[in-house]
This record gives sequence, C-alpha cells and structure tokens, in this order.
Amino acid sequence: NRQITLASRPHGAPTPADFNFVRTAIPTPGDGEILLRTIYLSLDPYMRGRMSDAKSYAEPVAIGEVMVGGSICRVEESKHSGFKKGDLVVAFGGWQDYSLSDGEGVIKLDSAMPNPSYGLGVLGMPGLTAYMGLMDIGQPKAGETLVVAAATGAVGSLVGQIGKIQGCKVVGIAGSQEKCDYAVNELGFDACLNHHAEDLDEQLAKACPAGIDVYYENVGGKVFDAVLPLINPKARIPLCGLIAQYNATELPAGPDRMPMLMGNLLVKRAKMQGFIVFDDYGHRYDEFQQAMLPWLMSGKIKYREDKVTGLENAVEAFIGLLQGENFGKLVVEVGPD
Ligand code: NDP
Repeated sequence: NRQITLASRPHGAPTPADFNFVRTAIPTPGDGEILLRTIYLSLDPYMRGRMSDAKSYAEPVAIGEVMVGGSICRVEESKHSGFKKGDLVVAFGGWQDYSLSDGEGVIKLDSAMPNPSYGLGVLGMPGLTAYMGLMDIGQPKAGETLVVAAATGAVGSLVGQIGKIQGCKVVGIAGSQEKCDYAVNELGFDACLNHHAEDLDEQLAKACPAGIDVYYENVGGKVFDAVLPLINPKARIPLCGLIAQYNATELPAGPDRMPMLMGNLLVKRAKMQGFIVFDDYGHRYDEFQQAMLPWLMSGKIKYREDKVTGLENAVEAFIGLLQGENFGKLVVEVGPD
C-alpha cells in the first residue's frame, strides 16, 4: 500500500521534503468496514490548509499521517451491509492506494458511470461550491456583471458558465493567455484578463464599464485590490477561497487596505460572505445535482480535467496547483501499486 504522508509543516510554499512516500501492508477490514482501492485522487487547494496547524475550520493532518483527500474508489472487500465488492464510490481515502472506511460519508456511484472522476469535480465538491456560492450568496441576475478569478479552474470555470446561463456578463481572470483564450473561446466568457499583467486594474475597469455586481472570490491578493474599487452598490461577494495567500508567511507589502475595504463595503452597501461548502451546503447536494446534470449532459456546461498519472506524481502536481500550473480540475489517476 503506497502512501504519501506529511513529513513537516511547510513554511511558505510546500516542497517535496514536506512529504514522505512510504509503503505499508494493505489493511484488513473489521466488522462494519470496507476496504477501498483508490482509482482517482482529487488534489485541492484546501489541502494546503490541512498541512498547517494554524487554527482553522478543520483539524490539521498530523505529522506522519497520510495526507487527506477526496477519492473515487472501488470496494475491494466489504464487511459492511451497505456495500459490496466492486461498488464504485466517492470517498475520502487520502493520498494512498488502499484505505478503510466505516461507510460514513461514502457515496455510491453508478458502477458504469462513464467518467467517474467527474464525481471529484463538476458533479462533486467543487461543483457544489461553484453552484451554491454563486446562486445562494452571489444571487446573480440577468444583465449584471460577474467577475471570477482562477477562471479555468475547477470552481471558477463552473462559476463563470453558470453565470452565463443566468444571463450575466462574465469577466474571468486567469494566469496565462492560453487559459484566457480557453475561457472566452470554449467556456463562453465575455472577457478574460491575465492577472500577471502590470495594469490589471486598468484592464479590469475597461472590461467592466458598468462596474461589478458579483465578485466570486477565489484568490484574494492583487486581484481583489483591482476588483474592490469597481464594485457597484449592493454588490455581492461570495468569499470562497484566497489561494493567493495560502503560502504567505507575512502580510502583503504596501499600505493597510483594511480602511479601503471597510469604506467600500459601507458606502456601496455590499455583502461579503464566506462559506465552507459541506458545512453550509452539504444538505443541498440534490438540488445542485438536479441543476448541474442536465447542463453537463446537454453541453451547456463544459468541463476540463488536468489528469496526472501515478500516485508518485501527486506531490509535484499539488505544489504546482498552488502556483497555477494546473489547467482544469486536478486529479491523479492513482495507477498500479
Ligand atoms: P483551481 O482548479 O482553480 O486551481 C487553483 C488555481 O488558483 C490555479 O490554477 C491558479 O489559476 C490560481 N492561483 C494560484 N495561485 C494564485 C495566485 N497567487 N493569484 C491568483 N490565482 C492563483 O482550484 P479550485 O477550483 O479547486 O479552487 C478555487 C478556490 O476555491 C480556492 O481558493 C479554494 O481554496 C476555494 N474552495 C473553497 C471551498 C469552500 O468551501 N469555501 C471549496 C472548494 C474550493 P491561474 O493560473 O488562473 O491563476
């Protein structure tokens, strides 16, 4: 059983030395348990938070423990009445070939599902995040301007496309020209800007002549600095993620931006609301699926995966995710032991 464990807590960006690659015996399920074989492992930005012991909404991974993560698995052996050998499931198996589960939180998939890894993306956690954050907190209306960064990623690509379905003008922000071209030409965004441009704020002002009504926040940092002066009265800001600061070791350079943030929220009477997807919206999964499945089947929503082969490549892929090297939802096809 190959496993990737946490070797040390990173200071700044994680490095390969923060992980260990170990081999252990395949575990044996006890009564009421199932043995799961990982087929796909999801790599997601929140895992950076789990590597840190700073206080958060979830417990950190302990040093020496297997890195946590969502996974698509086959049931190898079952001593649980609800599952049988061969079942295909969405589970939380972590960065390893085999894991044990008592079945809690494990969801069965149709065994013949054509793209099981979609259960980690467009039909899973990131899809629910995009849909609920946008629809429940963002409250988009036809004709409004919606801005979203990490625009070709798992969450952002779906936010922008759902925004288009709602009739919004959608402006994406992404980390390369190639990603921006994809957002406009394939995903149907109205515009997309590269956040590495020196004059991002000027470009954004030009792309949003009627201001910004909904800003779906995935990144923070200088993207938010460019967005804030452009928000309209009664703007809504679903605060989903702040990936630009996950590896930060100190406050950003420059003046204290807090007074500008508070001033803008007050004068514009804007709403900014954070959320943690399963805590706040786990109970609304069915509602999300009923909307998303037809969009996906009809081609209204397009979905791109960045598939990495081999568990041994998970560490490098994860480090790259925090630097914008993924192009689409990052998943690892775990491969043979
Ligand atoms: P993505 O597939 O979008 O991958 C991460 C992307 O973030 C990178 O590809 C890169 O895109 C962008 N990025 C990385 N560093 C920076 C930076 N310094 N400045 C700007 N952009 C950067 O990941 P997800 O779709 O899975 O996640 C998107 C966000 O949603 C994350 O912040 C994540 O933490 C959050 N999230 C929150 C949840 C919740 O419950 N609140 C649940 C799920 C996700 P590019 O090259 O385009 O810059």
